[in-house]
Amino acid sequence: MPIYTADLIHGDGQPQSGWGLWVEDDQILGAGPLKTLTNALADGASAQPAEVIHFANGLIIPGLVNSHNHSFQSLLKGFCDDEDFFTWRDQALYKYAKTLSREDIYTGALFAFGEMLKAGITTVCDFFYINDQANDNARAVIQAALDVGIRIVMARTMYDWDGAPDRFRESVPQAVENTRQLHAEFKQHPMVHVLPAPHSLHGASVEMILAGAALAESLDTPFHMHIAEGQYERTLIEEKHGKPPVAFLESLGVLNQRLVGIHCVWMDDQEIELMAQRGTGLSYNPSSNLFLGDGITRIREMQAAGVCISLGTDGGCSNNRASIIEEMRMTSLLQKVKFLDSTVTKAADMFAMGTRHGGQNLGLPIGQLKAGFAADFTVVNLNDLSMQPRQNAMNNLVYASQPSAIQAVYVAGQKVFEQGQLLTVPEAEIVRRVQLTTAHWD
Ligand SMILES: [Zn+2]
Repeated sequence: MPIYTADLIHGDGQPQSGWGLWVEDDQILGAGPLKTLTNALADGASAQPAEVIHFANGLIIPGLVNSHNHSFQSLLKGFCDDEDFFTWRDQALYKYAKTLSREDIYTGALFAFGEMLKAGITTVCDFFYINDQANDNARAVIQAALDVGIRIVMARTMYDWDGAPDRFRESVPQAVENTRQLHAEFKQHPMVHVLPAPHSLHGASVEMILAGAALAESLDTPFHMHIAEGQYERTLIEEKHGKPPVAFLESLGVLNQRLVGIHCVWMDDQEIELMAQRGTGLSYNPSSNLFLGDGITRIREMQAAGVCISLGTDGGCSNNRASIIEEMRMTSLLQKVKFLDSTVTKAADMFAMGTRHGGQNLGLPIGQLKAGFAADFTVVNLNDLSMQPRQNAMNNLVYASQPSAIQAVYVAGQKVFEQGQLLTVPEAEIVRRVQLTTAHWD
């Protein structure tokens, strides 16, 4: 039963010097000044003796939470960059998604998740939609997460738009049954969480969206859905339903505290207010929105309204990096330039988006270092060149740090990355697999 000691950021506040993180199995028992923890131990708070592990020049932070990704898309990196959205969708996404085997899907997930661990991410929400009307492909993604050692939230997609590849599509009863089954299968698993994810207002019918929302209610989980990513999407929904996306979801009765909207780039004032009133969350993916030329989500207004904003990297072929620290930085810089005002964002708020709010939008006790939360944490090397000078570690972490500063990563109390090396699946093995899968692509 270890106590890890170093400087420590337990919530989204400033680093505390000489604190300890007390971990038992996969849970945090407490975080606080080392003396308080050792006194608690002396008082018999635990029957086991404590082993103190000190990270010299270390800063322990909550494991970073990636609240939106499509892992298989990592395999498509570089195949259709700098093209318009529809060319990108048809010539990269749809083209390769049609040919991926289950083994390829597993490889793509290992690749994406391996990169994330190296960037200090301990939980990923994988919005997965190559389902082939069953759950075996989703199981391959889950297996990859378990093999590499990252906590996974499987946003099991419900999709029925007939313009998409057959592999994505299911009838409403099929999607409901398969999602319900997958949820039941992993209900007791400590590292795997399943939630329904009706794809979007264009990828899922109204019946599918209603079924997804009802399923989330009966399973007591959040549900995730892409909302108003591109401008065309907003126009499309307004033409079809006479209302903008969020107002339309409100009229369907599904705008509630279980819903987390992905992107939400094209929003009017009333929709932001509605999201805040209903407790609907936002998973924001700034790099992806920039990469695809979608626009800048109204983060400042949504923050002011009280929307819970978490961060996502999105898929590897629309970002093309897998770092939540990079998304924190991007979120902040975009708002500063949009308002021509460098004071509109603060590093600590960005940090909360990449940690605590991620836990909230995934409905899990993660993203904070406190009793009862999962023992998911990342150790930053305060002696890394990118973290100098040391006075403002929070600011440096968000704005200055490079991946070289990530010293170690623990998920559920297990060390899975240290000193540049994945300790689970060797990086060379992932590289070999990716090269084998993609060698014949053009
Ligand atoms: Zn997405």
